[in-house]
Amino acid sequence: MKLYRERIIRCPRLGGEVPFSYCEREAGDLPCRQVVRCWNTGFPVEEYLRETLTPEVWDRFCSEVPKDRMTTLLDIVESAKQRQKKQRETVEKRLNIGSDHSRD
Ligand code: SF4
Repeated sequence: MKLYRERIIRCPRLGGEVPFSYCEREAGDLPCRQVVRCWNTGFPVEEYLRETLTPEVWDRFCSEVPKDRMTTLLDIVESAKQRQKKQRETVEKRLNIGSDHSRD
């Protein structure tokens, strides 16, 4: 847990580097509303927050994360990236399987 808190990331809102310890308390007792998006590639941040926040604080955090237009747009872009990645992996697997058969 302590190791996560010491991790550093470039904050898109502040324009400088911040540790995770800042992000998890950016809004007083609540994490920054961007925390999952910012840290998701570094470690399982949602799981971490569920374990460390009280159920009441977690519920409050979830209810305060806005689904504004930009958030929705970025979610769509992220979903599209994930879909493309899966498709690419599927094609690569098929190509590998195909090349294995060609050696027979
Ligand atoms: S979670 Fe918030 S404070 Fe932390 S890097 Fe992202 S935008 Fe900045």
